[in-house]
Amino acid sequence: ISLNPTIIVIFGGTGDLNLRKLAPALYNLYAEGYMPEKFAIIGTARRPLTDVKFRETLMEGVNSFSRTGKVHKEKWDNFSQNVHYNPIDVKDSASFDTLKDTLDKFKNEFGPDTQIVYYLAVSPDLFPSIAKRLAKFKLAENEDNCRIVVEKPFGKDLETARELNEILRERFKEKQIYRIDHYLGKETVQNIMAFRFANSFLEPLWNRNYIDHVQISVTEQLGVGDRGGYYDGSGALRDMIQNHLLQLLCIIGMETPINFDADEIRDKKVDVLKAMRPFSAEDIRFNTVRGQYTKGWIRGDEVPGYRSEKDVDKQSNTETFAAIKFFVDNWRWKGIPFYVRTGKRLSQTSSLITIQFKDVPHQVFPASVAEHWQQNRLIISIQPEMSIRLQVQGKRPGLDMTLNPVDMVFDYKGTYTTESPEAYETLLLDVMTGDQTQFMRADQVEIAWELLMPVINAWESKKSLSFPNYAADSWGPEDAEALIARDGFHWFTLP
Ligand code: NAD
Repeated sequence: ISLNPTIIVIFGGTGDLNLRKLAPALYNLYAEGYMPEKFAIIGTARRPLTDVKFRETLMEGVNSFSRTGKVHKEKWDNFSQNVHYNPIDVKDSASFDTLKDTLDKFKNEFGPDTQIVYYLAVSPDLFPSIAKRLAKFKLAENEDNCRIVVEKPFGKDLETARELNEILRERFKEKQIYRIDHYLGKETVQNIMAFRFANSFLEPLWNRNYIDHVQISVTEQLGVGDRGGYYDGSGALRDMIQNHLLQLLCIIGMETPINFDADEIRDKKVDVLKAMRPFSAEDIRFNTVRGQYTKGWIRGDEVPGYRSEKDVDKQSNTETFAAIKFFVDNWRWKGIPFYVRTGKRLSQTSSLITIQFKDVPHQVFPASVAEHWQQNRLIISIQPEMSIRLQVQGKRPGLDMTLNPVDMVFDYKGTYTTESPEAYETLLLDVMTGDQTQFMRADQVEIAWELLMPVINAWESKKSLSFPNYAADSWGPEDAEALIARDGFHWFTLP
């Protein structure tokens, strides 16, 4: 790819996200030849730091967190020559004058085609200050060459998301705004699009006539760790379902796009959100389950309950688990449940999408096959295993007709020798090439909030009397099993 010279300004340059994700991603892009020939990475934060010290800090981050392990000395030295540090207090306008001088210096050196990416890797309450000052100091005026990347969370509810969208859209064109949902950058998530739309055999089956139900399950073994302060004001609905899980649901549920144009794809995803059945009070009672973990044991270690985690309210009403039954009311999906669950301190860390097909219309085999009978399932494993499995019935070798379910497996490890890039590598490259396909448009974010607001409001206004209601190393509260078992199904997990 031939890219124009690029300046990447990272607000929050000394922060966790930069050290863990952005710096390793940029270094790996460089090491694999994907960075523009001329580029500058300018880290910014409040404290004074020399370029040399900043480069050392980033190198530690890359060495600890990069998928490719420790840096290659020569490549790192060449890469880090392009890394600089510029102290900025984003609440102080004078800082933006000095940023302007730095940008002008690089623009003069790089030429008129230079593009600038502003990456907002700071706490969300600073997003407005930065956006306003970038506009005030005319630092992002060129709508073709200046882009702004906004991290999650995008708002805390519908109202704050709208406010943030307004602040951004009054100052920048939508085509300049890149709202990150890093799930969309994952290799296996992008592959769902390839699987659905580059193969002809699936489409005739991909609807209410042949599909029984869909499950989307994103479970984590970890607790909140050091993020208690943030998480306690957020919870599983806001932190995971409003963004990542609903986006996965959109990719499974969307109509076939006409082409791979960013807005065409985002239009099709928005259509799914628009078709989702709004929650009545009754739906909230019967189709949603919330949970909070209590202390327990994970791999021989005792782990604290949520209310005893650092920076968490001792009486917290925040959910660390949520399970919801959604419906998409359109011709393709009417009546087909989409069960979605996510939670912390569960038995497994895994992201799985399971599509269960309807049973055969008539059983031709002897009654004895019922013992191992299993309806066909398509299982898309996003992480940690990266695979797609089709569970089919097969004949077990032998003289009698015994059937058992077998898996036809496409597994990344066995199929490809190249390692998959990290989501942030893919997404940062997309920002540099100006491809918004995998980023959230203003309307996507707002409709997703709008859909969930009744649930958020109900859960916040009525304290759960059963919290904490699931043990660490379990599959969440019993009600979550009941939610799906009532319809005759079970949550699927990989062994
Ligand atoms: P952090 O607290 O580690 O880093 C914040 C950064 O902002 C630091 O560099 C700090 O110096 C800087 N900063 C604070 N006040 C400032 C000011 N007034 N002027 C200039 N700089 C200032 O936070 P983080 O974990 O890196 O998260 C950053 C953003 O990324 C947040 O929106 C977060 O929700 C999001 N995010 C983080 C992760 C992650 O893995 N850490 C994952 C997903 C999303």
